[in-house]
Amino acid sequence: MKNLTSMLDIQKADTSKIDQVDFNNLVFGQVFTDHMFECDYKNGSWQTPVIKPYGNLSMPPSARVFHYGQAVFEGMKAYKDQDDQIWLFRPEENFNRINKSSERLAIPEFPKEYFFEGLETLLKMDSAWIQKGFGNSLYIRPFVMATEAGVSASPAGEYKFMIICSPAQAYYSGEVRVKFSEKFSRAADGGVGYAKAAGNYGAQFYPTNLAKEEGFQQIVWTDASTHEYLEEAGTMNVFFRIGDKLVTAPTSDRILDGVTRKSVITLAEDHHIDVEVRRVSVQEILDAAKSGELKEMFGSGTATVINPILGFGFKGEKYELPKIEDSYAKFFKDTLMKIQYNEAEDKFGWRH
Ligand code: PMP
Repeated sequence: MKNLTSMLDIQKADTSKIDQVDFNNLVFGQVFTDHMFECDYKNGSWQTPVIKPYGNLSMPPSARVFHYGQAVFEGMKAYKDQDDQIWLFRPEENFNRINKSSERLAIPEFPKEYFFEGLETLLKMDSAWIQKGFGNSLYIRPFVMATEAGVSASPAGEYKFMIICSPAQAYYSGEVRVKFSEKFSRAADGGVGYAKAAGNYGAQFYPTNLAKEEGFQQIVWTDASTHEYLEEAGTMNVFFRIGDKLVTAPTSDRILDGVTRKSVITLAEDHHIDVEVRRVSVQEILDAAKSGELKEMFGSGTATVINPILGFGFKGEKYELPKIEDSYAKFFKDTLMKIQYNEAEDKFGWRH
């Protein structure tokens, strides 16, 4: 294994932009830290990784990424505890997942030691951008794209792997009501739903805009062939509490294997909550809502941790969920955040 630290090319920014940032009024994903990580792939190998001042890229208009969307990404967060220590939450999961996504998009695998050394060095250099306090974090966006010039519809021979970072408060603000999709889908069997392929997300914007016009903030995607089964909520995995049981769809070709999702399942089992990982039909949820058995719905994802869903719509009807004390959503959010911010025992070895 190469000794990366000695071969990581570090170009420090002359001045920091941090004084221009109002950390109490951050809009998600708008402000970026002083530095970024960049590593090019050419002639069959990843080249010397570089950390340099955050700035624009220059690329030929024929670069494959602009034409065929050969690009994948990840989303993770860094947290700072009261002793100024910086923590990542299960970062190996994100590293493994970006390579799984890359494989599906015919992008070469990125080396683990480059990823971790690059990320850790970047976080140390920009550590002042990670604000202390529950809910504050640094959102980390690793991504890879095909940079080779030429519009031939074939995999590129050149790529760029990058990491950029953006200080974040809570991602979603306000109340979330969702529409169960009756027509649109985000993924199909044999497709790329399980990958964080850039195009999966671009394709969600139009149906989500239509749902917003009807007063919903997100769509719960249903399976592409029948639209009878509920799969994911926007860019989150989705959980249903029916009675005291917690139900969520199994991961598949179509569903992203969310880090928060698997952490919620582990925590639930650890707390003797009855978890069922199985298909969840629209009809089952409609029936449970009508009978009062449907106690909660929530999304899970890195950005918001747990996002309670207050109501849903299907075929023109709207349903509101009851307001409950002692919600599972609150329990999972508090428990996960305490682990992430080093305020609770890390029983499962999730902090890094
Ligand atoms: N589903 C989709 C489609 C997503 O984009 C995300 C966000 N990565 C998730 C679920 C949640 O995954 P995680 O908990 O790993 O953030």
